[in-house]
Formats: sequence, C-alpha cells, structure tokens
Amino acid sequence: MSFVESVRGPIDIATLGTTFMHEHVFVLSTEILENYGSGYWDEEERVADAVAKLRELRALGVHTIVDPTVLGLGRYIPRIQRINAEVDINIIAATGVYTYNELPHFFHYQGPGTMFGGDEPMVDLFKRDISEGIAGTTVKAAFLKCAIDEQGMTPGVERAMRAVARTHVETGVPITVHTNVHNQSGVAAQKLMREEGVDLTKVVMGHSGDSTDLAYLCALAEAGSYLGMDRFGIDVLLPFEQRVQTVVELCKRGYAEKMVLSHDASCFIDWFPATTKAAAVPNWHFTHIHDSVLPALRERGVTDAQIATMLVDNPRRYFTKVQ
Ligand SMILES: [Zn+2]
Repeated sequence: MSFVESVRGPIDIATLGTTFMHEHVFVLSTEILENYGSGYWDEEERVADAVAKLRELRALGVHTIVDPTVLGLGRYIPRIQRINAEVDINIIAATGVYTYNELPHFFHYQGPGTMFGGDEPMVDLFKRDISEGIAGTTVKAAFLKCAIDEQGMTPGVERAMRAVARTHVETGVPITVHTNVHNQSGVAAQKLMREEGVDLTKVVMGHSGDSTDLAYLCALAEAGSYLGMDRFGIDVLLPFEQRVQTVVELCKRGYAEKMVLSHDASCFIDWFPATTKAAAVPNWHFTHIHDSVLPALRERGVTDAQIATMLVDNPRRYFTKVQ
C-alpha cells in the first residue's frame, strides 16, 4: 500500500476518492489578523462556518481537498486540525512559500547570495514540515507550493522555487505552482524545475484554467505536468463558458490524464470584503463544480470516465511516490 500524509494522519492513497486539488480552508493575513482581527474575525464563528462548508462538500461526494495554504497565506495547522476533527474529509497540508516577488525579511540575510550566506534555510524548513510535522503538530506536509505571477522570475520567486524544487528532489514530494497565464509563467517555472532535476510529472501548473490558449496549455502538459483547471467560479478572471469549453477541448484532444479540477475557493479569505466578494464572484464556492461545471462538461460530451480521471485517478497518481 502507498500512503499520503493528511491532517488526520497517513491515508491509503487508494482511498483518496474524489479530490479537489486546490482548495483552501482559510486564506489569512496572519499579522493583520493578530493585530486587527477583532474587527472581522470571530474564531468560533469561522470554525463553525468552515465545518459546515466542508460537511456540505463531503455530502456531495468529495472525499479529499488538497490545501496549498503555505507561508504567506496564513497557514495555521492547529485550527485546521480542530475543524477536521468535526468533518469526515481528508485535508492534505502543504509546505512552501507564497510570494509574487520578495521573500519574507526572515530570509533576506541568510541563505545563498545573502549577507550571511550559507545553505538555503527554506529547504530545511520544508523538509522538517514533510518529515517531522508542521510547527510541533503531528501533521506532515504532503506537497510543496510556490508561485510565479505577473512580476515573473524575481530573485525572491526564484529562490523560493529553487528551494521547493530541491526539497522535491530530496523527498519525492510533489509540487503545485501558482502561475499566471497572461505572461505564461508556467513555461519559466517548468524551465527552472527541469534545471533542478524535478520530475515534471509531479507538478501541477496551478491556475492554468485561467487560459484558453490551447497551444500554451498543451505544451505544459506535453512537458509532463498537470494543468490545474482550478479556479472554477472566479468568472471575473475567465468566464464560466470559456473555462468549461477549454476543458472540453483538452479532453477531446486526449488530455484528461493531464488535468485536475478545483475552485481555489476558501471557507474564508480576508483579502476581500465578504459582501464585495459575494457580489463579484457569486459562484466562487466549494459546490460550484458539482452544481454547474460537471453537468456542463457532460452536456458537451466529456464522459464520466474522463471526469473520474480528472477527479480521482490523477490526484492518486500525483501523490503516488515514484519508486
Ligand atoms: Zn490558492
């Protein structure tokens, strides 16, 4: 049997079931929360709300969510453990750094190319999360996360990505990269990772679903990576119809084995005022795929077998360690 770590401990990969490959329980600006949270954060209310939303998702038949909330996104595992104790769903935790540009100041003066130099401290921190557990909990990270957005391969982005790549090479743990389709930053991410010896079949090119550029998407998939069709519901970035049609077209061309589906939603995110968010992206929630996306895919000829490939088989293959 092959196992993957989750918030509730190791689970048999064969039992992952229907898996959303990019959902957050919370996205939080921790330092703002700690100082100004009384204006918008009620711990009990938010925990109860998360429990309810995840129970609703589980009731739809989703067994697992893969949660890429790392440094920069407010990762706090004890709260996730508390929620998961009340919901029978697998939550897979991540390690890594989320930045579009600079690293946290903590890393500015230590590590390669810095004032005090030395080995890359991020690699040791990521490995500790993977092998020992996150922040004194028993929860181990099962995948790595980094980002490359509008600003491209800045020095900070590059350092985080190399640290993620090196940790992957040492541990075999798979990777999710946040990419920006407008500058096609997935290409730069694949190039760097190839240089570092990453197995590109163990990488999700996150947010690929924001693109309709089939040449770009097919090239990323041909290089081996999964396409994260993972922002269903963020219709302001790309409308529903185009998101669906891109998946349909890629399925027709034989790429079901290279796509994973998700929303990149969260039970609560502090980046936007809640009412503004609800008005701007009313479909950005955990049930949109089941409510609207899967029916639309089926209507346009995507088979149940292809849907199972994207929701069940691909996540299972992604987390299965290469021997
Ligand atoms: Zn995300």
